Amino acid sequence: MHLIGVTPYVRENGALSIGKDYMAAIIRAGMLPVVLPLTDCRATLDAALNAIDGLVLSGGGDIDPKLLGEEKRPETEDIAPIRDETEFYLVRRAVEMDMPILAICRGVQVLSVALGGRMYQDIGAQYSRDIEHTRMDIPAGHAHDVTVKGGTLLHGIVGRDTLAVNSRHHQAVRAIPEGFTVCATAPDGLIEAVEKQGARFCLGVQWHPESMSAERPEQQALFDALKIACEERKPSC
Ligand code: MN
Repeated sequence: MHLIGVTPYVRENGALSIGKDYMAAIIRAGMLPVVLPLTDCRATLDAALNAIDGLVLSGGGDIDPKLLGEEKRPETEDIAPIRDETEFYLVRRAVEMDMPILAICRGVQVLSVALGGRMYQDIGAQYSRDIEHTRMDIPAGHAHDVTVKGGTLLHGIVGRDTLAVNSRHHQAVRAIPEGFTVCATAPDGLIEAVEKQGARFCLGVQWHPESMSAERPEQQALFDALKIACEERKPSC
């Protein structure tokens, strides 16, 4: 069975946690989720990368603006430097290893910034207030649609041009790294999903598919596709 490393959230008291929906979606896809440690020990992270078959970057707090070379805006909060350090290293190495990567919410920002892209510290302050992207009141509900670009990995997975998504973010991708494609956008034009061209499977989505995947097959399809990519890279038998 393929092992999927999942990065955890750092709670206020320092405890690490992971939402049960991530576990459930990975298990439904027939894979074994394992929660990864947060550490600056590269040898430990290399050992983790050698043990897992795929990487899921989970949602969470904000990225330290220092990593963007920016001053912290008043809206930026919930920063965990050890998580930034761990995830930036993991995602850069995973890309080099051509390991399948599914980056969710905060994860799509980590994926983008770690590889040379840019992000908004706060959508309302820096981009637009046309759509409310911070709908914590409907964590699994339909917050807005996204338009899926034809011919992309994402379009092949979900098989449709429009997707109903939840929205629990106040930060967002501002500019994608070289070699990436924007594969979904919100009605206000905001980037909602990115993928790396030519990669086996390197996909980041701004919404939380794991929270909708029990009810919506097209959201579970993201995790099922991750499994297929793991199988292609390392056949189980
Ligand atoms: Mn959104």
